[in-house]
Amino acid sequence: MTETTASVPTSQETAGMAIAPWPRQADGQWRVGDRPLSRVVAEVGGTPCYLLDRRRVTARVAELRQLLPDCIRIHYAMKANPLPALVCHMASLVDGIDVASGGEMRVALDSGMPARHISFAGPGKSEAELMQAVAAGILLNIESFREVDLLTRASDALGIAARVAVRVNLPFELRGSGMKMSGGARPFGVDAERVPELLRQIGERQLGFEGFHLFAGSQNLRAEAIIEAQTQSYALVLGWLDACPVAPVTLNLGGGFGIPYAAQDKRLDVPAVADNLDALAQRARREMPDAHLAIELGRYLVGEAGLYVARVIDRKVSRGDVFLVLDGGMHHHLAASGNFGQVIRRNYPVAINRRTADHETVSVVGPLCTPLDLLADRAELDVAEAGDLVVVFQSGAYGRSASPRGFLSHPDVIEALV
Ligand SMILES: *Cc1c(COP(=O)(O)O)cnc(C)c1O
Repeated sequence: MTETTASVPTSQETAGMAIAPWPRQADGQWRVGDRPLSRVVAEVGGTPCYLLDRRRVTARVAELRQLLPDCIRIHYAMKANPLPALVCHMASLVDGIDVASGGEMRVALDSGMPARHISFAGPGKSEAELMQAVAAGILLNIESFREVDLLTRASDALGIAARVAVRVNLPFELRGSGMKMSGGARPFGVDAERVPELLRQIGERQLGFEGFHLFAGSQNLRAEAIIEAQTQSYALVLGWLDACPVAPVTLNLGGGFGIPYAAQDKRLDVPAVADNLDALAQRARREMPDAHLAIELGRYLVGEAGLYVARVIDRKVSRGDVFLVLDGGMHHHLAASGNFGQVIRRNYPVAINRRTADHETVSVVGPLCTPLDLLADRAELDVAEAGDLVVVFQSGAYGRSASPRGFLSHPDVIEALV
């Protein structure tokens, strides 16, 4: 470790946000993977790039394990970031991987995670994907009656009983969630009121029933909302126990743990959520003794470990306002531009890779010919010139794979675990 050359930052140094601090050297360079940013950028092949700090991912999972009761399984929802190197690293840290396509499934299987700890959710699984999953022996979260028919056929064709769980469209919403995925009419899961009928069909077709998958929503910073959703989900499952073909062995209570993106965001009170999971696990020991409880997290595990880095191509002044034009933008990082489901656009935390005596208010934009290509709207930053590196923090989740990289045919973005 050469940490001695790095000054220990306050969270304020990371662009004034309540985000987990990153170390910064005396010369103002940020440190990633225990090296100066400029060196890591050179090492991966230049800008634009996403850098995921391996140690930060490891530390995040370790912290969470400290907080959670031992019996709670932690799954990685790899749609947050499917970079194969990252998924391989996660496979050594977590208890399961949740995938949402045949493509993700291949990466998860390649990662070394045993098939029995991989599960597959998604509202439109193709016949080929279902066949692939049954053959591999992974758990399928059933989202419609159609899948029961197709899985019966796949099981017959392969001579293996499909392993299945029921994904439920919960009868309530996850309050305060960035993205709601349950309550009301939804394409995800089977409506709670039809679950008994689905369980009967699963039993009749002799599919390998294993349990339930209950995911209420994403990007939530309110512990009380997550606690309420997990408690209500647990209660629903209790009501279905008599209708289950066999006793459930797995109960995936979802997740939705959010991370802060803006100054006013408060960190999620994870200890409070952990206490509630502990209480539910104790009840489960009596009420469904065969069931293992799991949570599935994407963003919370990797979001704060990643940076997006681009280089200033031009520093333009337009009628008194300064624009830093970068070699990367919304086509690599749709979420930072505010166009990935956000209701209100807020700046991601951004910073320049050097420290200057003065600060200035600048807008950070990408190279695309559209006003949507805005990474920071009037942010107060160190003074940058052409050639400087600009860092967007909180970029480890829903970055490269969640962005329209073909839009305007600019070069793609490199992503590396460092
Ligand atoms: C998107 C999704 C996740 C991951 O959500 P995060 O907010 O990244 O934790 C987990 N489970 C399901 C079913 C999802 O659709």
